[in-house]
Amino acid sequence: MHERTFASVLLAVLLTVAPHAAAQSGDEHANGYEFDDSHFHLTNYVQEGTDVRDFLRIMGTRAGRSTLFGIPLQQTWSYANSGNYAPTYYLQSDAPLYYYSFTDAYIAMTYRSLTPEQRARFDPMITGFDPADMYAAAHIRRVLRTFPGVFTGIGEFTIHKEFVSSKVAGEAASLTNPALDSILSFAAQSGLVVLIHNDIDMPFAKQGTEPVYLAQMKDLLRRHRDATIIWAHMGLGRVVSPVRSGASAPATERNPNFGEIVEGMLTDPSLSHVSFDISWDEVAKYLLATPETTRRAAAMLNRFPDRFLFGSDVVAPRDSAQYFAVFEMYKPLWAALTPEASAKVRRGNYERIFDAGRRRVRAWEQSQGLTAK
Ligand SMILES: [Zn+2]
Repeated sequence: MHERTFASVLLAVLLTVAPHAAAQSGDEHANGYEFDDSHFHLTNYVQEGTDVRDFLRIMGTRAGRSTLFGIPLQQTWSYANSGNYAPTYYLQSDAPLYYYSFTDAYIAMTYRSLTPEQRARFDPMITGFDPADMYAAAHIRRVLRTFPGVFTGIGEFTIHKEFVSSKVAGEAASLTNPALDSILSFAAQSGLVVLIHNDIDMPFAKQGTEPVYLAQMKDLLRRHRDATIIWAHMGLGRVVSPVRSGASAPATERNPNFGEIVEGMLTDPSLSHVSFDISWDEVAKYLLATPETTRRAAAMLNRFPDRFLFGSDVVAPRDSAQYFAVFEMYKPLWAALTPEASAKVRRGNYERIFDAGRRRVRAWEQSQGLTAK
């Protein structure tokens, strides 16, 4: 076909097909994907998981792009502790977790085994470092040098997490450890997107009190305003529920509730580099607990549509039912969002943040004389 004829036919096809497809999915993107996944674990606590080609089949025509990482914390199978029982989750053994750095090589080789078209759908992340180790930034730099052209970010890595933190072998991670500062400084310098898990509070904290890790977390974020940071799960967790304020006290004297804390961060100019992911079914349970909590969550996302990302936080899915469950759970939220907020939280913010990350990390690699294979 003549080049110009082809172009005009293509244009005509796009004009007739695109608005229909977009209207069907309620999505302004002509390719009709429902979401991008900012928080996805290909492998589990014992480094086993889903073959990436099976995951591509699961993503199908519904999930457009996804982050790609494992879990760096390996659950030890201690014979002394559980005998012949092989634990695959951190709650199934008293034996320690340890940092399994090989996960980064595994993720990189998995990514490299794909075709360029398949690669374009993934943003691999570096996780195999100990955030309490002053050498952690050197590990991250080494991973970029060994596998140029692969990684977009670091994370999900964990500082405070309910029963996980105390099980990690070695020194406990801390928000005030200079090792963490050097990690975030290197992320800012190289353009790596940061996905950090840090529970805002202790497990089963007393209601009506300020979450214990909130002030330290805000200080950390403010020390790294040149980094692009996503706070995973908005700081919530399995036994870390959104704080309610002391109901009887007047608003000027009581501690703020969770919504007020998040809103305070969203309106704080010194934290404009921070976004929040709403990943994990545990988080969906909190946000959708009642029609009133759903309404409040939707109001927050509608007011700050650029600052939230959907993620599944699914670990090593066996099938599409398991993978799409979290996205389906959020249906009442999607229905309560403006079309603009819905499109941004499901896809637009992912593409803006991770595309910028890709560009910046590739530029950093080039400045170091590294070229992608
Ligand atoms: Zn996760």
